[in-house]
Amino acid sequence: MNVPNFRKIDLVTYKPGRSLLSSKKKVIKLSANESAFGAGERVRNILKNRNNNISKYPDSKFKKLIETISKKFNLNKEKIICGAGSDEIIQMICTLFLNKGDEVVVPQYSFLMYRIYAKIVGAKVKFSKEVNFKVSVDEILKKVGRNTKIVFIANPNNPTGTYNNHDQVVNLLKNVSEDILVVLDCAYYEYVKKEDYVRTNELLNEFDNLIITKSFSKAHGLASLRVGYGVASKGIIAALNKIRQPFNVNSFAQELAYFSLCDKDHISESVRVNSLGMEFLEDEFSKLNIEYIDSVGNFISFKTKRATHEIYEDFLKNGIIIRPIESYDMPNFLRVTIGTATENSAFIETLEQLL
Ligand SMILES: *Cc1c(COP(=O)(O)O)cnc(C)c1O
Repeated sequence: MNVPNFRKIDLVTYKPGRSLLSSKKKVIKLSANESAFGAGERVRNILKNRNNNISKYPDSKFKKLIETISKKFNLNKEKIICGAGSDEIIQMICTLFLNKGDEVVVPQYSFLMYRIYAKIVGAKVKFSKEVNFKVSVDEILKKVGRNTKIVFIANPNNPTGTYNNHDQVVNLLKNVSEDILVVLDCAYYEYVKKEDYVRTNELLNEFDNLIITKSFSKAHGLASLRVGYGVASKGIIAALNKIRQPFNVNSFAQELAYFSLCDKDHISESVRVNSLGMEFLEDEFSKLNIEYIDSVGNFISFKTKRATHEIYEDFLKNGIIIRPIESYDMPNFLRVTIGTATENSAFIETLEQLL
């Protein structure tokens, strides 16, 4: 069969956390860091009562959503862009900044989409070592070279759940050349309760080679809608707006993200429930003598004496989906999302049985 030539890309396809099991009716999905608390009440009420007008295109400029983000976080509207998930922002960044032969630096254990989008446009990926499962600025700087165009870090990082403090991120920004873009992926920032965590507005005011991405998929509980945003200097946002699809964020996503931002109590409740779940899992892991990595997100990675794949399969048989993370270069660890209290207990009970 003859087909037109296309680019051959050396890629491992992203495998999402599994979501369906055929045999069991009731499934507990703790594999993709979605919110245990779900969408807020305001969002759920809108969904019930909305007069759905799906025959019209969405607002191509996300006016209402951007105004709300701008007010809430005290940011200039021209510094914000929305995407179909923060994923799409990451993809647009790679399309805009990278040429064949350019290099990007990503930490050893990091979100897979950075390397995938970078490779699609022909860039090379350099991996920087982490220290105690934490992103290390010194190690990143060792990998930055003449051809480096982008440095990606997630803060908190997935799949480790560790974070970098404000000074560490400043240190990175001060020590890379201004023509290298630093992408700070803050998909889980709402969950972080550390005083030394990054102060994003200060960073944005000081550095023009920085883009911060945020998501409605995690603490907001809107993963299926696909909506996120990026904040950077006006020049970068204007350039990204030129390459994006005109209607990249659908009207449902725009509207519900707006209502979710207006629902003050939802995030605090979501974070509170997450902290309780995290404490519970940490306690139970300690009792069971299970090694885990301290996490500030809504997930935690842990290690057992049994082979990770066996444990993963045994969990599946019990109707619980967790995530083996060998594709993140951590073959001895499994990652579990903090669920509801009932889900967390079911997870621990099953774990006890399997050990
Ligand atoms: C989940 C996740 C995202 C993706 O978020 P979307 O807004 O759903 O595209 C981005 N970065 C990290 C580190 C994540 O874990």
